[in-house]
Formats: sequence, C-alpha cells, structure tokens
Amino acid sequence: MRRENLSPLAISLSTIVLLLCAALSAQTKQNVDLIVSHGLVVTMNAGRAIYRNGSVVIKGDSILAVGPQSEIETKYKSAQIIEAHGDLVLPGFINGHTHVPMTLFRGLHDDVTLSDWLYKYIFPAEAKNVNEEFVRWGTRLAAAEQIRSGVTTFADMYYFEDAVAEETKAAGMRGVLGETFIDFPAPDNRSEAEMLAYTERFLKKWQGDPLIHAAPAPHSIYTCSKKTIQDAAALATKYNAPLLMHVSEMKKEWSDSEKQNGMSPVQYLETLGVLRPNLVAAHCIFVDEADRKLLAERQVGCVHNPSSNMMIASGVSPVPEMRAAGIAVGLGTDGPAGSNNDLDLMEEIDLAAKLAKITKMDPLALNANAVVEMATIDGARALHMEKEIGSLEPGKKADLILISLDEPNAVPMYEVYAQIAYALKGRDVETVVISGRVVMREHKLLTVDEPHALARAREYQKSVSASLGLK
Ligand SMILES: [Zn+2]
Repeated sequence: MRRENLSPLAISLSTIVLLLCAALSAQTKQNVDLIVSHGLVVTMNAGRAIYRNGSVVIKGDSILAVGPQSEIETKYKSAQIIEAHGDLVLPGFINGHTHVPMTLFRGLHDDVTLSDWLYKYIFPAEAKNVNEEFVRWGTRLAAAEQIRSGVTTFADMYYFEDAVAEETKAAGMRGVLGETFIDFPAPDNRSEAEMLAYTERFLKKWQGDPLIHAAPAPHSIYTCSKKTIQDAAALATKYNAPLLMHVSEMKKEWSDSEKQNGMSPVQYLETLGVLRPNLVAAHCIFVDEADRKLLAERQVGCVHNPSSNMMIASGVSPVPEMRAAGIAVGLGTDGPAGSNNDLDLMEEIDLAAKLAKITKMDPLALNANAVVEMATIDGARALHMEKEIGSLEPGKKADLILISLDEPNAVPMYEVYAQIAYALKGRDVETVVISGRVVMREHKLLTVDEPHALARAREYQKSVSASLGLK
C-alpha cells in the first residue's frame, strides 16, 4: 500500500501503533539500580571477553549483565547511569597483603634491613603509639589512598582489627581482615588467651557480613610458636574463615627453619596441618619445587609483593614457577610503612612483570596479561574469593573501576593489557564502585572524609616522632 493512498485516519492509527510499540518496549526493559555505559569493558572472565563499547548492569550489590552497549540498552534501564565515555572499565583491584593502619608510620624509618626495621624501629613505635584510635585514622587514610588507586578489596594483618573492619565497612570497601597473633605482648592483646578471646569475638561479630571477612592472622613462623599458629588455625576452621600469614619471606626464616625443624617453612607448616585451602600466604619467596607442589596441592593462595621484596631486598618470589605449578598468585603492596610506603596496586602490577623479567634476564618471564590477572581474578583466587569477585560477570559482586584513557600517558593504545600494566597509573582511576555503591565519582571520594584523615595523619607524625625522641 502506498502511503499517499492512506486516509488521515489510517495515518493517525499507524502513529498510535508506533507509539504503543515504543512504550511497550520501554516497559519491557528491566529496571536496575545502576548501569555503566559506553566503556571499554575488560571483563577478566574465563574467556577474557573485552567489549570495545560495552556496558555493565548492576542490581543491588551484584552484576546482573555485561555485554555490548547495543544489546544492554535494549534490555535494561536505570535512573542511575555512569557514563564511561570510553573509559576503561575493569574489575576492582585486589590488594592481597597489607597492614593499613601503618599508613601513619609511612616513611618513619627506611633504608634498613627487615630485621632491624621490625625489632629496632617498628615494634617499639607500635608499642608506644598503636591504640584503637590510631588504627581507625590509619585505616581511613588508607581507604582514601586505596580507593583513589582502584583497590576495592584488600587483605590486612594488624592489631585492633575489629576497628579496621568497622572503618573499612564505613568506607564501603571489601576486606579480608586478619587479627594478628604474635608471641609477645601486642598493642591490643597482652597474652595468647586475650588474643584468642578477642579474635573469637571478632570472627563471631562479622560472620555473614557482605563486605568484611574476618580472619585470624598468625604473623609468621619466626614470631609465633607451633601452638600459637595451630590455635589461630583452629579458630579459622571453627568459623570457616581465611587464615592470613607471612610465609617464607626472609632467607633467615628459611635457614632457621632448616636448622630448627629440619625442613623448609612451607614443609613445617604442612606438619602443623595449616596448609589448607583457606590459607593466604604472603610473600612465598623461598619456596623450592617441592614446596610449590605442596602449596598447589593444598590450594594455598599466595600473594606476591614486588615493591616490598625489592625495598627490603628480601629476595624474589618465583612467580612464573608458582603459576606454572597451578598456585593462585595474587599481588600485594605490603607496607605501607618501611616496605613500600604506598598502597598503589597499579605500581605492583608494573613491577611484578619487570622484576620477573630482570631476575630471569628474560622479557617473556611474566607478561602484561599475567600481571593484570594477578591484580584481579588471580588475586581473588589467592584470597579464595573467586566466586565473589575478580571479574565482571553476572552473579559476581559489583566491584568495578573506571580508568581514564584520555591522559597523555594513556594514548595511543595498541594493546589493552600492556597499557594497564605498563602505562596507566593509579591516579588515572576516576570512578570506583564497590558492592554496587559508588564510593568515588570522577575523583571525588564519597565515603571517606579525606581532608580530616590527612590532617590527623599530620598530627600523628608529631606524636609518633615525639614518642621516639625524634625531632
Ligand atoms: Zn606484611
């Protein structure tokens, strides 16, 4: 039928039908809580799908859909849209090992050995200064720093960890937070009995929390007896919690274990029965082939901390070999005092690749794809949280970051993983969403009072210096 033959009535009827169709399709679009539109979406899912013009759909605290913009916009609508304008959209970074309240000791004593740093400086400084208030302000400062550089989940080991948990939750961050067990009077607990009681209350309190995973954290085999380690591990088992520990991080730790136990630290932990799928082992520098086989068999998660290992000159973790053995290896900043001095995980991504390359004198030793995996999906595996976080796919928690690609250091871009690993910086992170909640929008922090945290950090510098008789 030719249009000019239509009567005015027919024309208005066809217009009504068209309008009805449009209204119907709008109605059939599912209403969701947040849509991130027009991004370069790097999913880190099993197929490593990348959408050049993609979109992520969020309902509640989870991802509902990820896909091409054209597909998503026909199916979903939301009152809240984050327009990515071609920004890189990535799963939030996972900082697998740190001690966040130590931000307040940042730069206190550098350029010393780990043993000197610990025994001459940091343990005395902690004894004189660390209390619950200190831990709260240190955690707030660290939350600002970590969110700014795209960290959405971190694993922590410190004292007063319940206060760390409260502040982490207030900042809207996800944390695997370990209360330290150590065989000398700690700032929060003066005896092992107190440590056990505190940690049990801590584990009970946070059970089932959507953001906080509470954990016992025996410091190491060189600061904890067999009994302390086993008691901490028993608590973790009782509450189905992770267990965080420094493992084989110093040559001296390894040689002392060989002398005292007749075996490596990893094998010693096996005899204690703590090499289990809930263990998150930081460092793992001195791990030979037999150790690596054991770590893989027991599904222990390992966390590599390149800045820290270089700064303390403690050694180089055999990351390529660990990955080849099937171990989940994540990345951590460690520190932030004495062993790194910042919490920027993007720096660790860059350094992990370069440290492996120079150690082996082989530029192929660890590539960009591998280190981006370590900061995201493999970091999640190392924390035993890969069902929850680490990639952008339906059903996982909505933890994602937007990184500007409109920066002098971001153009041109030929290969996306190499750009993330070697060119982009933590400061390029613009917007951060954790558990479906926007915690930073276009560089503006929404959950942390940053000026207040900075001011208090400067005040702490004065009181910490005075406590140690420094100027
Ligand atoms: Zn550490």
